[in-house]
Amino acid sequence: MGKQNGSCWWCVKAVKWLPVIFILTIVAWSYYAYVVQLCYYTIDNYVQKAFYLLFFHILILMFLWSYWQTVYTNLMPVPDKFKIPDVEMEKLQQAETEETQRQILERFAQDLPVTNRTIKGAMRFCEKCQLIKPDRAHHCSVCGTCVLKMDHHCPWVNNCVGFHNYKFFMLFLAYGLLYCMFITATSLQYFIQFWKGELDGMGRFHLLFLFFVALMFAVSLTSLFFYHCYLVVRNRSTLEAFRAPMFRTGKDKDGFSLGKYNNFQEVFGDNPRLWFLPIFSSLGNGVVYPVRSQHQGTPNTYDSMGSTQNRVP
Ligand SMILES: [Zn+2]
Ligand SMILES: [Zn+2]
Repeated sequence: MGKQNGSCWWCVKAVKWLPVIFILTIVAWSYYAYVVQLCYYTIDNYVQKAFYLLFFHILILMFLWSYWQTVYTNLMPVPDKFKIPDVEMEKLQQAETEETQRQILERFAQDLPVTNRTIKGAMRFCEKCQLIKPDRAHHCSVCGTCVLKMDHHCPWVNNCVGFHNYKFFMLFLAYGLLYCMFITATSLQYFIQFWKGELDGMGRFHLLFLFFVALMFAVSLTSLFFYHCYLVVRNRSTLEAFRAPMFRTGKDKDGFSLGKYNNFQEVFGDNPRLWFLPIFSSLGNGVVYPVRSQHQGTPNTYDSMGSTQNRVP
């Protein structure tokens, strides 16, 4: 305890921001290389210049906005009704057998809207947060808390990706990919000119690296983006793709799937005007999810989702 631990804590906190600073530095440099070196110094044609600058600025703005939202969205905590009161916790700690513990948890959670279970069929319980885990929630050891519909902890955004920022994360990948593809496509011509020796001045090295860096990021973002598109239409989180969620009736990797379009709407919302903007529009509250009818035992509704077949009247 004391001072040393305190300063250590700050060090760890600062180190966690390094990947974010790295991304922002690359984006800032790419802005300089594209706007100043490519558009201002290299391109002569005014129409081309205006066209490139317009699209570049739209993409970088959308990218940075989505990134900001992914990084700075506060993930809402698990509601209090899932927290196990001290009296129950004491009973749990004193319980001698696993079966007694199981019964205590079962009794406490009987009115909670949870359908997921552990592999052994017990209530999912987080010892660290002392709560019953809502469906699709997992404990993040980096954030030190349970995260609703946890997808994964992403060091590049120094945040957990979960229910409250998954749409932003998807848009961050999409605009990041478009940004890199746009730069790659529009700087290719000058990249070729570089190798032919038709460009001079030190600025040409910026163009060379701009092309390379954009291409490299485009390639790595492509696989990540399309993997997450697959997860969205299947209604799985990254964690669930690795380990299928467990229901009372057994394991089911498609237990939350409501059909491709409904799955898409669950993340992006039912208002197409908001689909491409990093403004929160996911359906539901992050705690309760409609599940396939065979897993239903407790009331499970999606108030905002009229098209769900599993809606309980
Ligand atoms: Zn936890
Ligand atoms: Zn986390």
